[in-house]
Amino acid sequence: MNIDKFIPISRPSIEKKEIEYVTDVIKSGWVSSTGGKYIDIFEKKFAQYCNTKYAVATSSGTSALHLTLVCLGITSDDEVIIPDFTFIATANAAKYTGAKVVTVDIDDDTLCISPEAIRKAITSKTKAIIPVHVYGHPANMLEINKIAKEYNLFVVEDAAEAHGAKVNGKKVGGLSDAGTFSFFGNKIITTGEGGMITTNSKKLYKKIRYLRDHAMSDKKRYWHTEVGFNYRITNLQAALGVAQFERIDDFLKKRKKIFGWYQEGLRGVKEIKLNHQSSWATTVYWVICLELKNYNESKRDALMKTLKNKNVDTRPYFYPVSDMPMYDDSYTPITHKIYQRGLNLPSYFDITKEQVSLICSILKKIL
Ligand SMILES: *Cc1c(COP(=O)(O)O)cnc(C)c1O
Repeated sequence: MNIDKFIPISRPSIEKKEIEYVTDVIKSGWVSSTGGKYIDIFEKKFAQYCNTKYAVATSSGTSALHLTLVCLGITSDDEVIIPDFTFIATANAAKYTGAKVVTVDIDDDTLCISPEAIRKAITSKTKAIIPVHVYGHPANMLEINKIAKEYNLFVVEDAAEAHGAKVNGKKVGGLSDAGTFSFFGNKIITTGEGGMITTNSKKLYKKIRYLRDHAMSDKKRYWHTEVGFNYRITNLQAALGVAQFERIDDFLKKRKKIFGWYQEGLRGVKEIKLNHQSSWATTVYWVICLELKNYNESKRDALMKTLKNKNVDTRPYFYPVSDMPMYDDSYTPITHKIYQRGLNLPSYFDITKEQVSLICSILKKIL
């Protein structure tokens, strides 16, 4: 492997602004979660961006999801419906509450949770649905919200991969009871590690802020009436987040451009599918998705190996959550078919058109 030529799947873009704001924090000494101005700024800007009344920053996307579910009152008496096709954190966050995690199938175009499958999985114990905006494409929120209203269920959007994605022009995170985001190093914007919760509910917002910080009474210091968490973000991380957030429009524009390069470069190649975009949706192309019709897992893995030998990093699609030992088996034929034929190709802010052309020509030769 030639390290100079190696094209990674993902890489953050850290420039002058990021260094400036983070240095500002280091110099000020306010590196933790109290004092300093960046957490406030980050939360306010994020709420504004998602068109929600409130936003609360957390230590990760996983803690954001867990905290939201706890604050909605999800317990071991409940069932939570999630898509079988997602990053494991969605399932784990629900599992931490003690609830039964029910995995259901996806739609084969969007790769997001299927509203029909949700309907079939609802029982008297169902309390919440977590649609995941997988790979940057929003879930079918109109249908999902309809179902939730009918059965009186909470909806929490897992928007960890979809900052800025839209449903009929409205940004994700503001389309249900709450939305959660991640700022891990490979996400749309990064804080190293970090997360955010968006909501329009004042009651939920207050509870989230309370439990994020050990449920400490705001009237009596070191007095606690519930078991809370330390799910806080630091001023240091928030400074990085604020700088990244100022560049989000550029990031999203570039991702769209990169997708265009792949589309162009792979034009005419038969039996493949790239990222889909529904008529009602605006995807943010968090990753480039390449699906090879009629492929299975071993054929897909062999292709990934060949690409690696040619210095091109790739990533397999997520495995079905229901196949993992911690979770119940689930009959999800679409998930089980699609995961085997999918991989993600390199896309990040600094990737060049020449690099994408190179990847496409390598792929064309193999396919
Ligand atoms: C990344 C991710 C998370 C978890 O985010 P962390 O910040 O890594 O904890 C949750 N859900 C999905 C769908 C993700 O991709």
